[in-house]
Amino acid sequence: MKHFPVFMAVAGRKIVLSGGGEAALAKLRLILKTEARVTVFAQTAAPEIHDWAAAGKLKLVERAMDVGDTICAVMFYAANEDDAEDARVSKIAHAEGALVNIVDNLHDSQFITPAIVDRDPVVVAIGTEGAAPVLARAIKKDVEESLPPTLGTLARIGKSFRTAVEATLPFGVKRRNFWSDYYFNAGPAAVEQGEDAIQPALERLLETHAKADTAKGHVDLVGAGPGDPELLTLKARKALDKADVVIYDQLVSPEILELARREAIMIDAGKKGFGKSMSQKNINKQILDHALDGHHVVRLKSGDPTVFGRLDEELDAIIAAGVSFRVVPGITAASAAVAGIGQSLTKRERNSSVRFLTGHDMQGFADHDWRALSQNGEVAAIYMGKKSARFVQGRLLMHGAAATTPVTIIENASRPNQKIIATTLVDFASTMEDAKLNGPALTLYGLAPRDALDVADQIPNEELA
Ligand code: SAH
Repeated sequence: MKHFPVFMAVAGRKIVLSGGGEAALAKLRLILKTEARVTVFAQTAAPEIHDWAAAGKLKLVERAMDVGDTICAVMFYAANEDDAEDARVSKIAHAEGALVNIVDNLHDSQFITPAIVDRDPVVVAIGTEGAAPVLARAIKKDVEESLPPTLGTLARIGKSFRTAVEATLPFGVKRRNFWSDYYFNAGPAAVEQGEDAIQPALERLLETHAKADTAKGHVDLVGAGPGDPELLTLKARKALDKADVVIYDQLVSPEILELARREAIMIDAGKKGFGKSMSQKNINKQILDHALDGHHVVRLKSGDPTVFGRLDEELDAIIAAGVSFRVVPGITAASAAVAGIGQSLTKRERNSSVRFLTGHDMQGFADHDWRALSQNGEVAAIYMGKKSARFVQGRLLMHGAAATTPVTIIENASRPNQKIIATTLVDFASTMEDAKLNGPALTLYGLAPRDALDVADQIPNEELA
C-alpha cells in the first residue's frame, strides 16, 4: 500500500484550488460536499464556479494564485491543466504548509482523492492508487447500489441515540446486537414510514433489547467451503461479520479468515502445538467457554461441516450446555473437485449414487462395500486419502475393479494453486506417492477429467469472469 486512507478533518478549515476548467470542476464537485471553506483562484472560471461563488458555496478570486494565498490551507489542489502553472502554484502551496494534490500527476502529489460513496456521515472511499480508475468506478457503482440512500439518515439519528444506548446496555454483545438490529431491521422499516418514525422505533427497540436475555451466547457451525472465498455462502459471510470469536480449522484459507469481523478473537483449532492439533475435547471447551460468556461464536470448518467434520461431537456438547446454535452448510471438497474436472458426481446411466469415503477408517470398510464399489461406473469421493491410496487400490483390484478405472486426484480444489492429476486405478498409489502433495487433496474414484477440458493449464476462475 503506497497510500494510506485517512479521513481528514476539514469542517471550517480552508481548502484552496487553483484552476477554473474541467479538472477544477471535477474536484470541486467532491470538495463542495464537505463543510470546508473553499477558495478558488482562476483568471477565467467556468460558469458553474461563478454560480457556486454567487450562491456562497465558495470564494472565487479571479486571478492567478500567488504567494500567501495558501496560508492556513489544509489541502491544496493544482487543477490548471497546465504542467508549468501546476508546478509553480504547487511549490507555493507546499512552502506554505498545505498538503498538495496535482490533478493527473500522481508522482508529485502528496495525497490522492478517492472515489466517494456519500451517505454522510457514512462515507466510503475507494482508491486504486491511480492504477485502475475503471475498477474504482465499478466498485463505486456496486457500493452505491448496496447502500440504501436512507443509510445516512439512520446513522445520523442513531448517533444522537448513542448516549441512551450506552446508559442502558452493557458494552459488548448486547450493544452490538442492538445496533445491528437497528441498522438492518428496525431502522430501515421505520424509515419507510418517514424520518419521524425513527426516534420512536429506536426507543421501542432499546426497550426490547434491554429486556432480552442474551446472557448465553450462540454458536454458528459454519462451512467455509473448499477455499475460494467466493464459494462462501451469504449466510457464512454474515455469520463472520457478526462473530465475536472465530474458532477455525487448519484447512480454512487465510482469505476467508480475513472476512471475519475485525474485532473478533481468532482461535486456530488446527494449530500444532507439540506436534498435535487441539484435541476435540479442548475445542468443545473453547466453543462453550466463549458462548457461555455471552459471545457469538463461529465454529468455522472447511467445506461442509456435516461432511467428515466431527460436527456431532460439538453439537452434543453445545446442546448439553443449553446454548443456541445453527448449522450453516458449505460447499464440500467433492463438489469443488468435481467442478474442477468438468464432471458430475452423478450421471444418468452411469452412477445413480455416489459415496463420500474417508481414507482414515478404510480398514473398517466391509467386504461387500468394496465389492459394490468395484462395479463398473461406480463413483466415490475419497477424503483424507493420501496415506491410504495403496490400501484402497489393493482392495478394489482384489474385488474385481478394472485396472483401467479412471481415478483423479485434485489438490487444493477451487484455490489458485489447484492441481489435477489424472490416472487409473492400477497406477493410483504410485501416482499419489510420486505427486508428494502438500495441500488438501481429494480423490475422485471412477471419474476422469472431461476430455474437452485442457486440465494441464486450467484458467483460474477469476480470469474467466
Ligand atoms: N468438511 C470438509 C472435509 C474435511 S476432511 C468438506 O466438506 O470438504 C479434510 C479433507 O477434505 C482433506 O483431507 C481433503 O481430502 C478434503 N479437502 C478439503 N478441502 C479441500 C480442497 N480445497 N481440495 C481438495 N481436498 C480438500
